[in-house]
Amino acid sequence: MEFLRVDKSDTLSLNEQCETLKQAGRKVYRFGFGESPFLPPARVRQALRSASCRKDYTAVAGLPELRRKIAAFHYEIDGYPIAASQVLTAPGTKPLLYNLMQAFRQSIVFLPAPGWVSYAPQARLAGHAVVRLPTSWQDRWRVTPSALDAALSRRSQSNRRKLMVLNYPGNPDGLTYSRSELEALSVVFRKHRVWVVSDEIYGLLHHRGQHISLASIYPERTLVVTGLSKWCGAGGWRLGALILPPDAPAGLYDALVGLGSETYSCAPAPIQAAAVSAYELNAELHQYLAAQRRILAAVGGAVHAALVRSGLRVHRPQGGFYLLLDFSPFADALASRAIVTDRQLCERLLADTGAALLPGSAFGMPSDALTARLAYVDFDGAAALDDLDALDDDRAPAAAAAKMLAGIDRLNSWLLAEE
Ligand code: PLP
Repeated sequence: MEFLRVDKSDTLSLNEQCETLKQAGRKVYRFGFGESPFLPPARVRQALRSASCRKDYTAVAGLPELRRKIAAFHYEIDGYPIAASQVLTAPGTKPLLYNLMQAFRQSIVFLPAPGWVSYAPQARLAGHAVVRLPTSWQDRWRVTPSALDAALSRRSQSNRRKLMVLNYPGNPDGLTYSRSELEALSVVFRKHRVWVVSDEIYGLLHHRGQHISLASIYPERTLVVTGLSKWCGAGGWRLGALILPPDAPAGLYDALVGLGSETYSCAPAPIQAAAVSAYELNAELHQYLAAQRRILAAVGGAVHAALVRSGLRVHRPQGGFYLLLDFSPFADALASRAIVTDRQLCERLLADTGAALLPGSAFGMPSDALTARLAYVDFDGAAALDDLDALDDDRAPAAAAAKMLAGIDRLNSWLLAEE
């Protein structure tokens, strides 16, 4: 009997390998798993406790009050008008992204490389043709308008719909797009009437609080996905949100509600109730976001500074909690040790140093490009938030990052020993 083949995600496999090493008494530096180190705010945790009796299903799109709150929150933060009727919630952004892929049917899906692990499998499961848009270190792993225009022009004869997924600040690169870069891309989007899924799940974790939503520049065909997983430290709570364009075709909304009703029904009701509290934009929440940004900027900066000492290519992060390491300057030295793919590189790094990284090929990079993603979240986020005042002292971020910096020392020594 044949079944649909869907590979286990690289993140899960890596976790299993780390566990095996740890059980064998080996020291493991967990740079592989990208989960927020912070807790949701106390007020939001209390709201969840108080909502345990919310046992009933809600509407598929979510509680009206939550949809209103999310609309008002992103209007205030991102500066473009949003009505509650444009907002759909779900158990995480992942099912929303998947159902979007299903709703679009028979499209050509353009995915930047690097890009988050699940976009391509989801697009393929939904039967789309996938086109990878290569990027480069020199262009900070950003899609350039000319490369995008060329890729779209080559398919201009196809009457399939064009759907693009953009993610910034990015997983796996930690980099973002400036306003002028988004404007230049939007010229191309308009020219080719592209629908864009703008995955802005790390938007509120832009390290300087300067995220710009694509929906404020290209409102007509931008589908923003966001949620509580990253900025609210609540990945396991499962609350994602989708903001549709104001005049999205009614058929799209209906398709998404229909798909939601046949798959997840609704986001968990107690989580939705707690989310109403999370989306309360008050001084305390601004402070909570600002604190996370300061910590992530400081820790990301310290980790970046330690990495570049070896001669690795890596851009200083601008948001979220990832870095994309480019080992290509070491290609010859690594080849002489029989390492020619990013998977071999990550396996050897884990075995020799205990540093667990994910290969760039999990993110659509060519495996001989020798890239790998490093997540800098292996620290006690709650303690870091408590100690925030100490951050005025330059040594504090290094203290939060101490364990990771030890891992990077090992990685650097290993790399330089290869030469
Ligand atoms: N998009 C990106 C870029 C992510 O990194 C993740 C989670 O790692 C998701 C979407 C999925 O988030 P959620 O927990 O809301 O399903």
